[in-house]
Amino acid sequence: MAKVAVLPGDGIGPEIVREAVSILHLVAPDIETQEALVGGCAYDATGHPLPAETLELCRESDAILLGAVGGPKWDVIPDPDLRPERGALLPLRKHLGLYANLRPAILHKALADASALKPSLVGDGLDVLVVRELTGGVYFGQPKSNDGNRAIDTMVYTKEEIVRIAHVGFQAAQKRGKRLCSVDKQNVLMTSVLWRDTVNEVAKEYPDVELTHMLVDNCAMQLVRNPKQFDVIVTENLFGDVLSDEAAMITGSLGMLPSASLGTGTFGLYEPIHGSAPDIAGKGVANPLATILSVALMLRYSCGREEAAQRIEAAVGKVLESGLRTPDIAGAGEATVGTIEMAEAVRAALV
Ligand code: NAD
Repeated sequence: MAKVAVLPGDGIGPEIVREAVSILHLVAPDIETQEALVGGCAYDATGHPLPAETLELCRESDAILLGAVGGPKWDVIPDPDLRPERGALLPLRKHLGLYANLRPAILHKALADASALKPSLVGDGLDVLVVRELTGGVYFGQPKSNDGNRAIDTMVYTKEEIVRIAHVGFQAAQKRGKRLCSVDKQNVLMTSVLWRDTVNEVAKEYPDVELTHMLVDNCAMQLVRNPKQFDVIVTENLFGDVLSDEAAMITGSLGMLPSASLGTGTFGLYEPIHGSAPDIAGKGVANPLATILSVALMLRYSCGREEAAQRIEAAVGKVLESGLRTPDIAGAGEATVGTIEMAEAVRAALV
């Protein structure tokens, strides 16, 4: 029996996670869930944003469902290592070896108006998956320094790091449209030369997936020129940071987008891409769909329950087609519903 650590966190976190967990219990009643503190609320209760008991629970679970952490109240904690994002999220990823970040940028047809792109480009929806390497590259390479006159960052990748993220990319593509675009800067960076050679080697194990390569500057341009050409994009940490935000923003709906961070095996951390939205916390208007869709990713990647994942995704699609909108995805003058009503509609649409 699978066990899920549930970490609601701060701001709107508890409101949206509560609804997502109730949907998890409906589609997979045998999955056990256990809650723990993370973020600012954990700091207030224990003096640390990632208490030892929380980390222990995460280690003994098969997956983690996280709401969001942070808020103005904790931005002033003097020790930056005790602030929620730096003190909880980064160590959680590091301790648990979560090296692959999966960010689907899905624009439902019913929400096409929310996109900044022309209807001719995204009118009938969009579904791109960005797979970002999360624990290597220039964010972590040594040496790193800044003496006020000269600053150094070092971009390092080992073949092993590239091989494992390439496998994630190919396997994700196998489950979708079977097309993988590997993004690098091979004309300038040595790490990118190794990246491209390695991805080509790994490709031999996936003859059913069509592999293409693209330079990162071209990819940034192609994403706004013709985003539908992409199925799965796999790329290194820094490029993935930028491209996954770009792809997400094309959909225009922050409250809609889930994410998964995976390590070896099936263990994973699932969370909406948005933050704790302190401006609307406690008002009952937060969009719970990104967190509900994160549960679908969890069922797919950590629990091997593709059918249950698709049930949730189909229910969300149905609710959007019926015209139900939380304020963040409503057009001007459109009627809106709150967090609970939106989740209730998804529960009712599950078949
Ligand atoms: P944010 O994503 O929390 O909010 C940005 C805007 O989007 C706000 O207007 C907010 O109301 C809206 N929004 C976000 N999620 C929504 C939802 N589900 N439904 C409706 N509207 C939604 O980003 P921010 O304001 O820059 O950050 C707020 C706090 O969250 C900060 O403390 C930041 O550090 C933290 N944060 C945490 C994470 C995380 O936990 N992974 C990620 C990003 C930011």
